[in-house]
Amino acid sequence: MWLLLVAVALSTSAQQKADLIIYNGKIATMAKPGEFKQAIAMQNGLILATGSTQSIFKSYKSKATKLVDAAGKTVIPGLNDSHMHAIREGLNFNMELRWDGVKTLKRAMEMLKEQAARTPEGAWVKVVGGWNEFQFEEKRQPTIDEINAAVPDKPVFITYLYGKAFVNKKGIEVLGYDKNTDYPGSLVELDKDGKPTGLLYAKETPMAIYRTLALTGKLTPEERINSSEHFYREINSFGITSVVDAAGGSQNYDADYQASLALAKAGKLTVRTSYYLFAQQKGKEFADYEKWIGQTYPNKNDHILMANGYAMEGAGENLIATGADFENFLEPRIVLSPDMEADLEPVIRLLVKNRWPFRLHATYGESIDRMLNVFEKVNKDMPFNGLRWFFDHAETITDAELVRVKALGGGIAVQFRMYYQGELYTKMYGQPKTQLPPIKKMLAMGIPVGMGTDAPRISTYNPWMALHWLLTGKTIGGMQFWPKDQVLDKFTALQLYTSGSAWCSGEQDLKGKLIKGMYADMVILSDDYFTATPEKIKQTTSLMTVVNGKIVYAAGKYASQCPPIAEPIPSWSPVKYFGGYQK
Ligand SMILES: [Zn+2]
Repeated sequence: MWLLLVAVALSTSAQQKADLIIYNGKIATMAKPGEFKQAIAMQNGLILATGSTQSIFKSYKSKATKLVDAAGKTVIPGLNDSHMHAIREGLNFNMELRWDGVKTLKRAMEMLKEQAARTPEGAWVKVVGGWNEFQFEEKRQPTIDEINAAVPDKPVFITYLYGKAFVNKKGIEVLGYDKNTDYPGSLVELDKDGKPTGLLYAKETPMAIYRTLALTGKLTPEERINSSEHFYREINSFGITSVVDAAGGSQNYDADYQASLALAKAGKLTVRTSYYLFAQQKGKEFADYEKWIGQTYPNKNDHILMANGYAMEGAGENLIATGADFENFLEPRIVLSPDMEADLEPVIRLLVKNRWPFRLHATYGESIDRMLNVFEKVNKDMPFNGLRWFFDHAETITDAELVRVKALGGGIAVQFRMYYQGELYTKMYGQPKTQLPPIKKMLAMGIPVGMGTDAPRISTYNPWMALHWLLTGKTIGGMQFWPKDQVLDKFTALQLYTSGSAWCSGEQDLKGKLIKGMYADMVILSDDYFTATPEKIKQTTSLMTVVNGKIVYAAGKYASQCPPIAEPIPSWSPVKYFGGYQK
């Protein structure tokens, strides 16, 4: 009874008053191009209203309202990365030295040396993706000799895109690799005396690289939770408020989901995370999905404070091992096994029957054609009937395939992988004459498109680099990859990163715009995205990130409002000394 009375009292007196108002800003509602408001009021994690500062104060301000003066800065809906491996990265972030954003190879090597000096006996120094040679002034990769000279006494492991990894001499010794070390589909390079050179190459598969990575140490369960918290904080610092997690190789459900789950249950997960489940055992994929269908269900949310805060979405990005067309542009395209269709069909039937949304990794049009054949066959006697599904990547999807995707009600999650691989792609296939992936065509056809990074093993998670790509069609090294007339306008590019990605977790009516009733997820930006040059946009960061109506990150003049976070552990963590992205 008492609770009921309190509820009634709240609903009559305080319901329409805001708990947080951001005012005096340039607030892009993203409801339509060019619509900006001065102030925004929120309450209980939802947006109450936008309008002029005066009108919002008049209607929604009470003594208890927290006020944030945006001081003319631009405010946008929180960014949503629809293809990130965030849950897995949380398990590893604190162990990794990130070269993301490093401008010279010289500095990258100094960081490696500094980190090695503080790394204790038995631990590895690791750089796992997020860089390439074109970001460096020197325009080259380190050599294995340079790495050996820089770090002779601690094991070092560095991955380069999906195609190559460097292991220093000490690392080869610790691993015990020799001329007999064999990973099918990969190359452990040997010198003329039959000794491993320290270079590992992916050929048909990246097995040598990722099996080796798995041998380079793990964080403890306590460290994994702390590491996840730091990774989510890191992406909050760029204005990310949501991710649609694409799962990944060796990311087992539900063991490897526990660190993010612990944060969600403690109310400390600061990025709304929607996750898909990726079958791990070749040949037993159907059994994995059957098991998981009995264990969990779409939209199951485990966040104690937020709607859709940590929610299971469905199946993918890999559904079957034989469907993985490996995107290594150092090597020719992989032709999928003739078993692919027979493996895929029962899994799709199972998912459609149980109304589980799914996503499917596919880089090349040649793979997509065959997958669509399977979907169309299933759809004939088991209609998809509005079930949410989408392809991930789709760099070389054809016009005819887009028509078929549209007919089946599908969408596409695109990423800026070509920002990192454009030079290699061009070397292999020549410069594309149209946009790749063909985002403008997808949009013109009314296909839902989400934007993402596929971070962090190839590309960085910094969304502003990805927006730079959408706005210029250039690579990280500045090469014009698509023709200039194919670039997106600013509103469309940002819309892909907000409403577009929200579709990938079925939340397009809940987030992506700053309008009444949507989630109070937003960012005060360091620079005005709408007037800045693409070069300036690359350097954008968040001054304040709000998720569910709460400040989860703040910097610059708002820094005192940033919630505290525990120091990274272990104490030698590169994150403690360098952070992540080098701003
Ligand atoms: Zn993928």
